[in-house]
Amino acid sequence: MYSPEVEKALESAGAHIGDIIRIQRGSEVYEGILLPRSEYGDPSCIVIKLSSGYNIGVKYTPGTVIKRLRKAAEVGKFPAKKAERKPSLPPVSLIATGGTIGSRVDYVTGGVYMCVKPEELLYLTPELEDAVYIERMRSPFLVASEDLTPDDWKEIAEIAAKELNTDVRGVVITHGTDTMHYTSAALSFMLRNLSKPVALVGAQRSPDRGSFDGAMNLLCAAHYAARSDIAEVAIVMHGESSDTYCYAIRGTKARKMHTSRRDTFRPINDLPLARVWPDGRIEALNTKYRKRGSSEVYADTAFEKRVAIVKA
Ligand code: ASP
Repeated sequence: MYSPEVEKALESAGAHIGDIIRIQRGSEVYEGILLPRSEYGDPSCIVIKLSSGYNIGVKYTPGTVIKRLRKAAEVGKFPAKKAERKPSLPPVSLIATGGTIGSRVDYVTGGVYMCVKPEELLYLTPELEDAVYIERMRSPFLVASEDLTPDDWKEIAEIAAKELNTDVRGVVITHGTDTMHYTSAALSFMLRNLSKPVALVGAQRSPDRGSFDGAMNLLCAAHYAARSDIAEVAIVMHGESSDTYCYAIRGTKARKMHTSRRDTFRPINDLPLARVWPDGRIEALNTKYRKRGSSEVYADTAFEKRVAIVKA
């Protein structure tokens, strides 16, 4: 929120966030997209994005004239792309829980919105449409993974178990990377009689960046869920920093090693379960794994939260 004087001036000009406005202060004239005030910004400075891309603050003083030039464009909106049913493609279920992989930049205001509709993931990774058929998309919540609690793991486990007992080949769960390895460990214990693959996937870089890793990760995660014969919970993320292949790492053995590297997840005291290529090839790297089967999966979500660690 801007100061009451600025809010009043914007209101009488009919200017809303995202609109293109002109601010005239004496002989100075500025034009740009009206942005929300940043959290620590001066409330009497109106922030606009210039056509050069730079954001500036213009101090509102008595006599400043604001004019709305154009209404907000719709360019920041992603159309929700519906998956087309392709009977030849293996069906998978997708559970979207949040994190960078589900974030997008609003190009009108420049703000980042993490919570998007799951269908919008198809816009981030159009190749997915030719790799698998997304039978269902579920989204119990959309949060940054640092805000997840064990109750959320239970909810994900219950939804995943339900999905696994349908005719899908496997389940893909989009998730923030910060606590993905905790969720993968929790799900590994909670999903009992697991008979199909479950892939957890995220992104280290956001979709507005050229180095976005989420598209290849999502594609490989979908291949792991649909095409592998490994009935285990795995984290499927970049195996090296280039866009070459992903590793599927056993859910109980994965660890995030770096804040920004694309190949941040590594197996600890274990080999990766498999190397997954974006073209769908899957190379098993670990001879010991649980094989696909037909048993009914159930979620055992009993969880004791009152546990202390005593370090000696
Ligand atoms: N803080 C974010 C999260 O874990 C980072 C990410 O998505 O990678 O949700």
